[in-house]
Amino acid sequence: MTYDNDNIFAKILRDEIPCDKVYEDDYALAFNDISPQAPTHILVIPKGLYATQDDFNTQASPDEVAGLWRAVSKVADEAGVTAGGYRTITNTGPDGGQEVPHYHVHILGGKRIGRMIPG
Ligand code: AMP
Repeated sequence: MTYDNDNIFAKILRDEIPCDKVYEDDYALAFNDISPQAPTHILVIPKGLYATQDDFNTQASPDEVAGLWRAVSKVADEAGVTAGGYRTITNTGPDGGQEVPHYHVHILGGKRIGRMIPG
């Protein structure tokens, strides 16, 4: 997928719009979701410009991949959801329900999340 430099997470990375940041390192930025679906709902995004999970998995360097996933665990731990458990979700493409075309991992926790796919 072609990367759209005007997507909202690209603007957050460029500090053009604010976010409720909870973590940042060389590889990842994490911030609270603007429309939380659970008591803890954090988005972790790579600093590299990848539109989808597949773009990230196939094009990112090993350091970028490791950096993103180590950040996910660090953010979950700092949010206090590691012991109780949490869910990571990545929506990919139209059928996956992806709205923002910059790869991101949702961390959802702080309550029993329920069925994997509601309904
Ligand atoms: P997805 O459907 O997986 O692309 O999820 C996009 C997520 O981004 C949704 O959960 C939105 O609530 C969230 N979102 C959109 N704009 C912002 C923003 N400016 N700050 C934080 N989260 C946002």
